[in-house]
Amino acid sequence: MMMNFHIHTTWSDGIYTPEIIVREAVKRKMEKIAITDHFHTKKVSSIPSKYLKMYLEDIHALRKKYRDIEIYAGIEVDFSPRTDIDSLPSFEDFDFVLFEYVQDTLWDGYPLWMLLDIRKKIVPPVILAHNDLSRNFGGTDIEAFLRVLEADKIGIELNTNLNYTKLGEFYYRLAAPIFERIKNFKIPISVGSDLHEDLDLIDKVDDALSFIQEMHLENNLKLFLKMVGDRYEG
Ligand SMILES: [Zn+2]
Repeated sequence: MMMNFHIHTTWSDGIYTPEIIVREAVKRKMEKIAITDHFHTKKVSSIPSKYLKMYLEDIHALRKKYRDIEIYAGIEVDFSPRTDIDSLPSFEDFDFVLFEYVQDTLWDGYPLWMLLDIRKKIVPPVILAHNDLSRNFGGTDIEAFLRVLEADKIGIELNTNLNYTKLGEFYYRLAAPIFERIKNFKIPISVGSDLHEDLDLIDKVDDALSFIQEMHLENNLKLFLKMVGDRYEG
């Protein structure tokens, strides 16, 4: 099944409009994609709160126009002082929310406990985007970490963008010891390529899907698809 749950457009720092993205995905016979532009951050061009409604309407209009593909409405929060975290909206009409840089000191990311603090205010599933888990959480009690994610309905994204590699290895592969245990937890797992400028990345999630098979994480992917699918239908 071809899918991609991390795509940027002209709504933030991507170079293609949502419609160009959708047409390319349809052309490649993809089944599910998500538009996940940046919520207002000082770091990059992004969507202020007052435009969130228009952004959603844009995605929903494409949903009506293109019936051969599921088009999910996501958004990405830069979890750092570059974002006004105290006035984050609930994102209630979104299908899921990506949080980047959680506990990532290289990017001034806020710690996980701060995300847990505001988690209740965010309505849809929350996903840790392209997190360098082995660096950011490798030194912690992994079982406790995974229990917390499960309890607070926080998932993990496998991101196939080369920006999220070290010495040619994807962050998720470097965190294999963590992923080996995830199958025992009800933690949703999503896949995405963080497309901005290269349309060819639209269906380049094959390594993430192989990793899911290798690590027996199929149920975690299914859980993610179910959680976002329920919101999509509802
Ligand atoms: Zn992104």
